[in-house]
Amino acid sequence: MVQKRRIVSESPSPAKAGPRPEDRRGPHAPAHPVRQAEYVLTVANDLQLPPPGPPEIAFAGRSNAGKSSAINALANRSRLAFTSRTPGRTQQINFFRMRSGALLADLPGYGFAAVPQALKRHWQEFLARYLATRQSLVGLALVLDARHGVSLLDRQLLARYLPSGRPVLVLATKMDKFTPSAQRVAQCAIEREIAECFPVHAAQVTVVGFSATRRIGIEAAEAMLSRWLGEWAHDGGDTGFADANSGGRKERAPRSRGMARGPKDPR
Ligand code: GDP
Repeated sequence: MVQKRRIVSESPSPAKAGPRPEDRRGPHAPAHPVRQAEYVLTVANDLQLPPPGPPEIAFAGRSNAGKSSAINALANRSRLAFTSRTPGRTQQINFFRMRSGALLADLPGYGFAAVPQALKRHWQEFLARYLATRQSLVGLALVLDARHGVSLLDRQLLARYLPSGRPVLVLATKMDKFTPSAQRVAQCAIEREIAECFPVHAAQVTVVGFSATRRIGIEAAEAMLSRWLGEWAHDGGDTGFADANSGGRKERAPRSRGMARGPKDPR
């Protein structure tokens, strides 16, 4: 008989009183793994993926769910991942390099109706392959609009990914739209939905109430990403990572600052 397992829940409430994270030092200081991440490259198919190397965390979600805003909030930058004016247009994976050398893969938003059916299928297959087989992937951050819960496409994505045994951080975002008590209700509803859909894999999933605009859930999300990254959560030196376009040579990431157009909308 299949046994239901509890989803790990993280409170969306702001940090408890104590020293500011920035003021704490030492090996056990809280890490901000995505902070100061920089854009590295954009890939449009499997062949362009960088060779698996440093640990990688993927961010996925429906178009307009708030994925770019969540990445920007975690990076503490306003225009690292570009928020969409035309949802669903970006059909590439954008890679960002964290200071440690670990990678963040910003997967294309899905579920935008105006994308032609054939292109949609191509992308679903590419994403499913990436999520199921990418060796260096250590975890998936799935961004959901907390007001809408878990969509069919979110469930399909989880169904392809969870059998890999790797963890998921659900960022239930736009929590600022709710009162504090309604935030808790919305988070519980998402946890329940996931537990019902994926009873065997529910323990792999952690739900965090999040808001990019109000910076709710940042610490909880950072703690989970840091756990996945281990020593790669902190600043590192030269990691030996070479991007897919460098022909195996080590390269510094191109700086995203000053780019006329961000990676969310490459031409
Ligand atoms: P993406 O398509 O998933 O990358 O979504 P975006 O990050 O571009 O956000 C889509 C829309 O939701 C934009 O209008 C954002 O300003 C808005 N948004 C994103 N995150 C939040 C949030 O935490 N709170 C609120 N109220 N709006 C948000």
